[in-house]
Amino acid sequence: MTEAAVRAQARAEVEVPLIRMRGLRKVYRRRDQEFLAVSDVTMDIHAGDMVSLVGPSGCGKSTLLKILAGLHGHDGGTLEIGGGQAFEPGRDVGMVFQQPLLLKWRTILENVLLPADILGLDRRAATQRAHELLEMVGLAGFADKRPYELSGGMQQRAAIARALIHEPKLVLMDEPFGALDALTREKMNLEMLRIWERSRTTFVVVTHSIQEAVFLGSHCAVLTAGPARMADFFPIELPAPRTLHIKTSAEFGLYVRRIYDLLGVE
Ligand code: ADP
Ligand code: MG
Repeated sequence: MTEAAVRAQARAEVEVPLIRMRGLRKVYRRRDQEFLAVSDVTMDIHAGDMVSLVGPSGCGKSTLLKILAGLHGHDGGTLEIGGGQAFEPGRDVGMVFQQPLLLKWRTILENVLLPADILGLDRRAATQRAHELLEMVGLAGFADKRPYELSGGMQQRAAIARALIHEPKLVLMDEPFGALDALTREKMNLEMLRIWERSRTTFVVVTHSIQEAVFLGSHCAVLTAGPARMADFFPIELPAPRTLHIKTSAEFGLYVRRIYDLLGVE
């Protein structure tokens, strides 16, 4: 069986989606002002999916992630997370932001351990896992360095390791590679796919790069200009393993074209 077929089968077996959103709506209130940020978002995300979330700037992507992370409530529609099992955002979500946000006085290892410390996980087991994660993100030799000794791309990989340390069911990434130069960004995309394959966890990645959305996503959610509504949600079926060459293929171009059309880009 091809990898895609294995995934499709695994997906069919898991009937209850990890995230089930129906008509989600979010209003920001400040004093007597109301601002509709998300108007109507519906999607199912299954365990093991890598969902890329694209949409115009200000359309409500970060707001959606904050709702998924339990940092904001919502004002309409329904959101079920956990696929029928207990789900506590503090324990079950890992987050990666545009900036790595490492603590400069902690070593890379200690930074990766931060969520484990906060959650009070067993230090020895967590330390072993942190070393494994550092190896996985290609930073095996950097455990004892301080953040300033690492390049931006390396710091971001440390931030990804930190987001995975407590084995979250859901990893949320908000424009994680937006601050990196183009070449580093491409390398990080490849790295990201490898990490996703190996961690087998569920990722939702916000990006404003349409190419990145197609390259990374097992599925792509396209949002309209704010307040966010669903423009489309579809699987991205490209041959595995994905390499940078795929970006020049006709089928890759068709997915990119599809998103451009949805966003009204000529
Ligand atoms: P995106 O991440 O897609 O660029 P955001 O989710 O950050 O968009 O923001 C969506 C809209 O909600 C924007 O118009 C933004 O100005 C507004 N917004 C975001 N956060 C707040 C807030 N805390 N209070 C009021 N308005 C907000
Ligand atoms: Mg944002």
